[in-house]
Amino acid sequence: MALIVQKYGGTSVGTAERIKAVADKVAGFRNNGDDVVVVVSAMSGETNRLAELAHSIMERPIPREMDVLLSTGEQVTIALLSMALEKRGCSARSFTGGQVRILTDGTHTKARIRDIDSARIHAQIELGNVVVVAGFQGVDDNSNITTLGRGGSDTTAVALAAALEADECQIYTDVKGVYTTDPRVVKDAKLLNSVTFEEMLELASLGAKVLQIRAVEFAGKYKVPLRVLSSFEEGDGTLISLEEDTKMEDPAIAGVAFQRDEAKLTVSGVPDLPGIAYKVIGPVSESGIEVDVIVQNAAADGTNDITFTVKRGESDKAKEILDEVADSLGTAEVILDKKICKVSIVGVGMRSHAGIASRMFKALADEGINIQLITTSEIKISIVIEEKYLELAVRALHSAFDLGDPDYEKKPE
Ligand code: ASP
Ligand code: MG
Repeated sequence: MALIVQKYGGTSVGTAERIKAVADKVAGFRNNGDDVVVVVSAMSGETNRLAELAHSIMERPIPREMDVLLSTGEQVTIALLSMALEKRGCSARSFTGGQVRILTDGTHTKARIRDIDSARIHAQIELGNVVVVAGFQGVDDNSNITTLGRGGSDTTAVALAAALEADECQIYTDVKGVYTTDPRVVKDAKLLNSVTFEEMLELASLGAKVLQIRAVEFAGKYKVPLRVLSSFEEGDGTLISLEEDTKMEDPAIAGVAFQRDEAKLTVSGVPDLPGIAYKVIGPVSESGIEVDVIVQNAAADGTNDITFTVKRGESDKAKEILDEVADSLGTAEVILDKKICKVSIVGVGMRSHAGIASRMFKALADEGINIQLITTSEIKISIVIEEKYLELAVRALHSAFDLGDPDYEKKPE
């Protein structure tokens, strides 16, 4: 018998039929003798619908009122799910974030959880109830309703699992788990049995968005075993844990991640002097633009090239800022390239395996793909290449590291 926190996302509770299916699933765990705390999102599309309504009333909705509004989506699903559970003879109680004292700071629309009063939930579990909690919401010190930012129900689930010291936190979603890469790009992408928190953070932040990044960070920090699995199909999904899975045959690389909407900016011919990187990058980050891969190289003639990447949508703004910087520096020139993308290989096994980088570069060379930038961290190597090579590069790397699912051919369509 275990204490499990389960979270069902918007598509999993998108219709009355889906809610009934979730109730069947939860009841199954109860009948097995497990204690279950369920966190639900709003029905799919509902949070967007509410946000649009608000924007139709005022251009920039008042954050406090936005939270009052958006939090209603989850209040609908907790009530419906509790009814469905009761109908199945499974006693259940629904609670809003405020009712179970999910205490947050007062930053409306992106509040952070400070504390959870687990006593109330434990008391309900003792009574034999399934506890159904509204995700994505809490209250601040002054009892104002707050929300945790889009996708925040994942964070609610992990925070509850940590506070209750649950045996596992299960995130039910519309995919079977975390894959070695995006199955839409590589057909034989393999479902991973397990990844480490570190790997998951890299894979998630690099675009493999299955879980809210904050939730993964939270789970890593509080050592909550986290599992991502499908609410539509059977299967054990992917366990995100502290330990590396040593059973895997080639543990060097967990997956290939990529990011499409990137742009590259190069400031060339800047003087090779102390403080120059700050002069160039400083104004860009200060304007709130996120700067990613940064490469600086001193040329023999005493000048520098500084190249970095930003989100494509922010690249024009970055270029404007840099043009001004270049003017003030005199000789510098700014080049913007919007047709690039970033591809990364990720794996904790990199720490103990030599030759990973050269294997990566060989695979790209064999396909005639030119690498524009390279950066590495302890568990990741990222390259920037021309956008049109993205699919080719991801497939080449996926097979160079033998990540493919050997059973793929045998699977029915
Ligand atoms: N309903 C909220 C959203 O759509 C929270 C969540 O689904 O996690 O962002
Ligand atoms: Mg979600």
